[in-house]
Amino acid sequence: MKAFASKRFGSDAGGGVLRELATSALEKRLVDEVLAARTGMDGEDIVPAFYASVADIAPIPSAPCPLSMARLLKQYGDPDKRFVVIGRTCDLRAVVELCKRNQLNADNLYLIGVDCVNLEEPHSAACGRCEFRMPFMADVVCCLNGGATGIEARTEKGRALVEASENLVPLDDEIERDAERVAELARKQQKEEFDELDSMSPAERLHYWLHQFEKCIKCYGCRNSCPICYCTDCYLGPRRPLVRRGELPPEGTFHLARLAHVADSCVNCGRCEEACPMNIPISRLYHMLHQRLVKALKYEAGMDFDTPPPLGAIPAEKLTEGEGEDG
Ligand code: SF4
Ligand code: SF4
Ligand code: SF4
Repeated sequence: MKAFASKRFGSDAGGGVLRELATSALEKRLVDEVLAARTGMDGEDIVPAFYASVADIAPIPSAPCPLSMARLLKQYGDPDKRFVVIGRTCDLRAVVELCKRNQLNADNLYLIGVDCVNLEEPHSAACGRCEFRMPFMADVVCCLNGGATGIEARTEKGRALVEASENLVPLDDEIERDAERVAELARKQQKEEFDELDSMSPAERLHYWLHQFEKCIKCYGCRNSCPICYCTDCYLGPRRPLVRRGELPPEGTFHLARLAHVADSCVNCGRCEEACPMNIPISRLYHMLHQRLVKALKYEAGMDFDTPPPLGAIPAEKLTEGEGEDG
């Protein structure tokens, strides 16, 4: 695969290129709000922020945000407003999946994707297995390289974003990305992790996962951090008969129900596993199953807006408002 090269830009407005794109989109009223990562109060944590005012826009850090941008947008974003969303490939893949399932309105979204090819250390187990480090589904693709940023507008919306800025300064050289080299490493990591499970007999594999699930304290962290879990009346809630209330560990249907709901759309963002206080390697399970479905159904989640999801969307009439209690 040919290396991807994007024109390098700077900003003469006193901020980075990502901040410049966000600021000018608000100033020119392309959008009503911007959703991006920012540095937390302690100067180290990365946290998400919704910005409705140019004056509030903080520098956008180079590290990924631990919370899912897609989930935040679905949960807190006003569906009638237009947003710039700045995120990593897994964030934007989840946004695409939610759009396909009528949970977000693609027409209202301007996606700025930041590449992860140069992420020095995989910040989670899922990142180590992640072969999709270039956000080609975005309107604007940004490649970070230390202080320099290469950008490429890939859609009409992307061109509008870039043209909205009067402070982007094109620089002479380009930033190149050999994403295939990193993808190869990720596939090697996948093989190591998945082969370990594949080499077990079905009975051993079942025993392995049941043993893992025995550690579960039903805290709902995995469900509550997953961008793809969007049912408002969740099958796993106490008002539904699927999982008995007050029992620990929860019966296997707890995990099987989630698996059935997200297997075709899991984007391997790893948020579920990061949220799990019991260190259960759940994203490995979801990722592995999704890989099997990719082969069978020829569908890789979130890579483009055009290919319909293979197992369909949950019909709107089934998405009724729940009481929001867990148990
Ligand atoms: S899972 Fe992939 S796209 Fe997401 S933050 Fe990790 S390396 Fe980046
Ligand atoms: S199941 Fe886990 S890895 Fe997959 S999309 Fe949900 S949070 Fe991300
Ligand atoms: S986050 Fe971990 S402990 Fe909590 S419900 Fe999910 S699997 Fe169980």
